[in-house]
Amino acid sequence: MSVLITNIGELVTNQPERDADLDPGGAGPVAGRRAADAAREVTGRGAADAGGEDSGRRAADGAREVPGRRAADVPGEVSRRGAADAAREGSGRPAGPGAGSGGPGPFAAISDAALVIDEGRVAWFGPASRAPAADEMVDADGRAVLPGFVDSHAHLVFAGERGAEFAARMAGQPYRAGGIRTTVAATRNATDDELRANLRRLAAEMLAQGITTFECKSGYGLTVPDEARSVSIAAEFTPEVTYLGAHVVPPEFDGNPDGYVDLVCGEMLDACAPHAQWVDVFCERGAFGRDEAAAVLAAGQAAGLRPRVHANQLTAGPGVQLAVQVGAASADHCSNLTDADVDALACSDTVATLLPGVEFSTRHPYPDGRRLVDAGATVALATDCNPGSCFSSSMPLCIALAVREMHLTTREAVWAATAGGARALRRTDVGHLGTGGRADLIMIDAPSHAYLSYRPGVPLITSVWRAGERVA
Ligand SMILES: [Zn+2]
Repeated sequence: MSVLITNIGELVTNQPERDADLDPGGAGPVAGRRAADAAREVTGRGAADAGGEDSGRRAADGAREVPGRRAADVPGEVSRRGAADAAREGSGRPAGPGAGSGGPGPFAAISDAALVIDEGRVAWFGPASRAPAADEMVDADGRAVLPGFVDSHAHLVFAGERGAEFAARMAGQPYRAGGIRTTVAATRNATDDELRANLRRLAAEMLAQGITTFECKSGYGLTVPDEARSVSIAAEFTPEVTYLGAHVVPPEFDGNPDGYVDLVCGEMLDACAPHAQWVDVFCERGAFGRDEAAAVLAAGQAAGLRPRVHANQLTAGPGVQLAVQVGAASADHCSNLTDADVDALACSDTVATLLPGVEFSTRHPYPDGRRLVDAGATVALATDCNPGSCFSSSMPLCIALAVREMHLTTREAVWAATAGGARALRRTDVGHLGTGGRADLIMIDAPSHAYLSYRPGVPLITSVWRAGERVA
């Protein structure tokens, strides 16, 4: 059954609008299936090629026309900043794995829009005045619709809580990586059902707040059976499961970190790899050094897992360079970067995933998001929801912090929380609302995406769809 959402004040698609009925030289009025098919064909070839098939004018205008027109369509700060800035935002993105394969494009939004969902996918989007008929209609009444948030970094398999540690930290005690051991002890003592119930609660909490795709790490078990059950339970809730046996060295390996790395790269990996897609390591003073981290990632890759790295959180260590060298999908935190680190990220496909909820919750300095975007790095925002350094599952909080504290524009922050997260997970079906994309979307009780940071702390999300189903 198809659903038409109409009267959308602002539709953020992260996909250039290329429906056949909008082409002045095109085939004319919308004809339902035909328009949708045409749009899907064009989408599949990517922005650079979009104009090639028909008139020379469209081909010539393609890349430069679209960003300029977006700027004119978007109200407020963006239009005042003008087309040049908008083009920089768009063209600053390297052509990542999504480009040309239907994945997320640059930030793009249209006003007075409509969108059609059919069989769990976006079948059509465009001006409300040209919307085709559908089996069911939802009136957005001027509200904004955005892609569902893609949270590419979360630690949700754990037991216990660390509210007292947070209170002590706010009273002046510093955060140290070793605090993870508190949660490790609680997790080892929990039953499978307790871990599962906690994860179910957090996944529901995320979904209600607009996170329609999330990654979930192990890393609070740190024994072979406890890590294996962690990834196995995570896999019940998300396909994006990360093996993080190398989170910290557990107490029983004090004085023998090499012995623990051997376990992480050997028996523990063998037990976890069947349930995971990703391998991660906390490359940080007090956790794992460069050579240890490199060994963990290499072993994971040999077992078929793809790498991602906790990098440069507390110190300007070797994590980012290592992430880029091994072709990691993402270097996460990036709170302390050298110029060489920024250059390395800008010249690679490794996404810089920023986790500003951590800096908020630890009172550490925020990463310089503006510097990364200006350098041309691909930036994602994620919650890092975990019981220690950031017990928040709120992507709108991350967006507000990214705008207020890291000097991203409202467009850049929303892009990073949707399309950026998809890039960090190497996903092309989510993070955008282009034709053929998975119909994961949120409606907010506001006329534009800017309200997510303009009205911080206000629960603006009124509805959530995942794969075309209304779930919140
Ligand atoms: Zn983390």
